[in-house]
Amino acid sequence: MISRILVTGGAGFLGSHLCERLVDEGHDVICLDNFFTSQKSNVSHLLKRPNFELLRHDITLPIFLEVDQIYNLACPAAPGHYQFNPIKTMKTSVVGIINMLGIAKRCGARLLQASTSEVYGDPDVHPQPESYRGNVNPIGPRACYDEGKRAAETLCMDYVRSNNVDARLVRIFNTYGPRMHPYDGRVVSNFIRQAINNEPITIFGDGSQTRSFCYRDDLVEAIIRMMNVPQGFPGPVNIGNQGEFTIRELAELVLEQVGGDSKLIEKPLPMDDPTRRRPDISLAKEKLGWEPQTSLRDGLAQTIEWFRSIDLGDYRPPTPNFA
Ligand code: NAD
Ligand code: UDP
Repeated sequence: MISRILVTGGAGFLGSHLCERLVDEGHDVICLDNFFTSQKSNVSHLLKRPNFELLRHDITLPIFLEVDQIYNLACPAAPGHYQFNPIKTMKTSVVGIINMLGIAKRCGARLLQASTSEVYGDPDVHPQPESYRGNVNPIGPRACYDEGKRAAETLCMDYVRSNNVDARLVRIFNTYGPRMHPYDGRVVSNFIRQAINNEPITIFGDGSQTRSFCYRDDLVEAIIRMMNVPQGFPGPVNIGNQGEFTIRELAELVLEQVGGDSKLIEKPLPMDDPTRRRPDISLAKEKLGWEPQTSLRDGLAQTIEWFRSIDLGDYRPPTPNFA
């Protein structure tokens, strides 16, 4: 069945791939974005499609639209981006979800909120199941993102309980792939860009901290499945790859795949940087019949190929003048 679908943050890394998939499936897609961390080139190829519409709008401001489904992805996701204006980040998560839940309530639309593994903070349970309540520093530099996403989860569940809104929560673990902002400061983009340019690869700390890296196609498949399960399972559900790598292992793998003669250098570890992270995806397997299909090696190869194909000069570093 064809649906009218709103994708907030639809011009971003994940949002643009989601829009592409939904447009290809024939849905009427409204992509809403304020272009804080993205550029129109991510979706310009969709503008000629009759079932795609692009709106420049900020979700902290009310908007009236009539849709059947809302994927709420609008929020800066990389630490350098979300710490650029932390108050705005918190507003985007909290005021933004209130505006989107308002549309969902008025239209009877289904809403999927892109939450994050950051709700677990620096976890003392490993791997992290959805039942783990987390270890977030509420006053640290990452809190604007972590606590904003936690508050958004709370608001979704309160609308589910008190207004019977059909909201769903996915907790996304580190995801990478083509169209991630080359200057977003995240580890995969930094390492690939640095290796391609024969620049030093910057390992923060001693590189023993771990992350689990999910390829974008696996992620998009999971969130579409979560949007389309029958009402009654709001989640939250973890979406991520169970393979766990130290940051040093990632650097070595990127260097091996890119080639070149970059050196690995150590830089100070940012405050509150989680020491380890790996999703328990038992619930996603059970409820969505989903598990990742793409190995880190294969996903990196595709991401490296994309980085080689773009002109880095077309992308601005993460210092946009947004308030
Ligand atoms: P991204 O920065 O590429 O995309 C976010 C998009 O939201 C951008 O296009 C940005 O311009 C837009 N945006 C930001 N603030 C906005 C506002 N106030 N109004 C309208 N648009 C706004 O990041 P991404 O990696 O594609 O992340 C998408 C979503 O997934 C985010 O909500 C993020 O928190 C979540 N997530 C991503 C990851 C990951 O590893 N990529 C992990 C966990 C959660
Ligand atoms: N990191 C790193 N070098 C970089 C960028 C990041 O060593 O150039 C580390 C960072 O300190 C963290 C991990 O890589 O331990 C993942 O960082 P990223 O910003 O990609 O995501 P997050 O910390 O939100 O998981």
